[in-house]
Formats: sequence, C-alpha cells, structure tokens
Amino acid sequence: MSKLYIRTFGCQMNEYDSERIASVFAERGYDLTDNIKEADFAVINTCSVREKPYHKVESELGRLKFMKRNKPNFKIAVCGCVAQQDGEKFLDRFDYVDLVFGTSAINRLHSLLDLVEQGERVCDVNEAEDELSIPVFAREKKVSAFVTIMKGCDNFCSYCIVPYVRGREKSRKPDEILDEVKYLVDNGVKEVTLLGQNVNSYGKNLDETITFAELLYKVHEINGLERLRFVTSHPKDFGDDLIFAIRDLPKICEYLHLPLQAGSSRILKLMNRKYSYEEYRDKVLKAKEMIPDLALSSDFIVGFPGETEDDFEMTLKALEEIRYESIFAFKYSPRPKTKASMWEDDVSEEEKSRRLDEVLKLQSKITEEINKSYVGKVQEILVEGVSKKDKNVFSGRNRQNKVVNILSNYKLNIGDIVTVEITEAKKNSLLGRVVEYAGR
Ligand code: SF4
Repeated sequence: MSKLYIRTFGCQMNEYDSERIASVFAERGYDLTDNIKEADFAVINTCSVREKPYHKVESELGRLKFMKRNKPNFKIAVCGCVAQQDGEKFLDRFDYVDLVFGTSAINRLHSLLDLVEQGERVCDVNEAEDELSIPVFAREKKVSAFVTIMKGCDNFCSYCIVPYVRGREKSRKPDEILDEVKYLVDNGVKEVTLLGQNVNSYGKNLDETITFAELLYKVHEINGLERLRFVTSHPKDFGDDLIFAIRDLPKICEYLHLPLQAGSSRILKLMNRKYSYEEYRDKVLKAKEMIPDLALSSDFIVGFPGETEDDFEMTLKALEEIRYESIFAFKYSPRPKTKASMWEDDVSEEEKSRRLDEVLKLQSKITEEINKSYVGKVQEILVEGVSKKDKNVFSGRNRQNKVVNILSNYKLNIGDIVTVEITEAKKNSLLGRVVEYAGR
C-alpha cells in the first residue's frame, strides 16, 4: 500500500481540508503515515495568515527536496493559502514540487492526481466555485470533529490576507451540513465544531433564508450528538440570537471565541474591525451575564502600525476587564495585498516582542487565577484520550474547552461523558477525579 504524509499549518479550517485530502488519497489506496521517510507522497497544507508559518513551509520543502533526491518517484504537493496566493509562481520557484492546488480545488483533486501520476507538474488555484459544496467524506475515527459550514470572508480587516486567499464568503447548504454531522455521529463522534471565518455571516448568500443561529437549532436536534461548538464569530455581527442559542440549547458548550484584536478603539478603526472597544465589551459582558459559566477566548495583534504605548496599555486593560480564559496573541507582520501592508510598519521588532511578552505574562496570570476558581467544582468531561504512562489517567475537555486530566478507578472509554470533581489547577490545565460514571 502507498503511504501519504500530510503536514498541516494554520487554522482548524486547514485541519479539516487535510482530512478531506486524506480521504481522496485513501480512495486511491494511500494509508496515512507520520513518518516522512516511508512516504510516497507528501502534501504540505500551508497558511499565509502570518509570516512565520510561511517561512516554515519553505524550510519543510527544503527537507522534502533532499528526500526526493534519494527517492525519485516521491511526489510533493503544496496546497492551502500559500498555494492559493502564489499559484504558478510556486511551481517555478520550487522545481521539485509536482502539484500546487488552492483552497477550492479539493473537489477536483482526483483529476489533478491523475495528471501527476502521468508525470505532469500541475497547478490549480481556480476559484471556480459558485457555491460551497463538500460531499460527505470518510474520516479517521475520533470523538471530536470539525465541520466546515462556510469559507471565505467579506470583511477585509486591514491586516488580513484571508479574503484574498480564501475568496468571498460562501455558505454550505444546511442539508449537506446536517448530513455530514449525522454521518459523524453514526461513526462515534460526540462533539462537533462548526467552522467558518465568520460564522455569524452564515447563510447570507444561500437561496434559502437561514441564519447561523437557526442552523445551530437544526444541528442541535441530531440524536446522538452530545456537544456543539463553533468558531469564529466576528464581534460586529455577534448578536442576541446567538446568546439565546448558547443559553437555551443544552448541547452548545459555554465557550465563545470572539477575537478582539486590540483594546484601543483607534487601532480597531485602523484595523477596519467595525466595532469600538466599548461596543465589544458591552456585548461580551451581556453574554457573560446571560450565560452562567461562559468561557471567553480571543485573538490579539500587538505592534499594529501606529500602535502607541497608550494604545497598547488599552489592550492590557481590556485583558484585565474581560478576563479571558485563554488568548492567542501575535506580533503584527505585514501580509501581501492587505491595506495595512502599505503603511509604515513603525513599531520595532524589539518593541513588538516586549508587548507580546507583556500580554502573554498578564494573560498567564489571569488564566492561572481562573483555573484555581475551578477547584472543587463538579464538571462534565468528554473523555478523549488515555495516558500512555498510566492507564488510570485519562484526558478530556470540559464544556469551557479546558483540558482536564482525570484520575479514575473506573475503566473509562474514549467518548465517555463523565462527571469529574476538579481537585487541582495547573498553569494550563486542570486535574480531577471521577465522581460519577454510568459505564457502558
Ligand atoms: S474577519 Fe477579518 S480577520 Fe477574520 S478572516 Fe475576515 S478579514 Fe480576516
């Protein structure tokens, strides 16, 4: 049997696309391998949202070039956002790459691979889709799975490359989404995360009238599904209908990723985020008030062009005021084609690093404090793994998406939902013991 190696950079959307790609290769007789040395085909699924992963792709390709020298039939494909962005240029630059395909070409992958097998070097970065259609595909068995509900983005935040590489917003038809979730549940999945660059815009370009909140109600009805999550929401579109859905639908977990990006309304305006800090804060405080136990997470960019020390201080103030359970923070780096890339990148690298350190240090203190507040609480945990070292230690996540390591005298199964008392708080996770287990 031939072997496929896939390396995925970037977001959950890329992870989902990699699963789709693996299923196409499986239909052609390929087994997945983690060991590049035994692979016959390598696929690098790339991300161009920040500069760092872009450079990582280049170094990964260097490694593959070396392999190809010793194994001439070894094939290399590059896909995802970098492929979409660079297209033919990529094939010219890396003459040992056999296939470059964009984010819309996965539906055409079989015919592209036919050409590669005939010895051709191929590039397909056509957008060519009027609507987003993803047929249900076979996947590795897991308890938790992603389901793409839309792709692309119409928001054009001034720093973001996504609208240029993922195209305009396109929603998937609700029936196709429901079929995929039913298929996953029938195959053992307990938790589904609905994916989109801006899930709140779901449905806007479909013939039938449906909002994202209405889609949540439909997915929620699927028997056997235990937990439902979604990412990412845009704060400007985050409204009461979504707060009500999270509050009223028991399968929706009390977890909301709502990227603020900066605490200064002046910087938010330059970022073209279309909300002020005060508007954002009022929305999340309302959501927190209406949904007990709601956990919030966010993304931040430090060192955006023109960000002064006063602006930066507002980001620190926002962290203190909102108290996220976790954040992702990055240093600003200009991305091609974006509006901000035309402005002077005037915060020095050293200053960006200092600001990033400060943000992460403050957040780490807040996370530790929040983690301590879980001690003594009784929580519902979805079991996702067992320790390799000790078969009595399991790992899972609570409804707030926090990792919980569980000590259990019961023999738990992956996919079980157990009641756990939290006994200890670690820096980035919790420890607990099972207090109730119905068994299976
Ligand atoms: S909402 Fe803004 S940051 Fe998010 S994908 Fe769209 S353009 Fe990028």
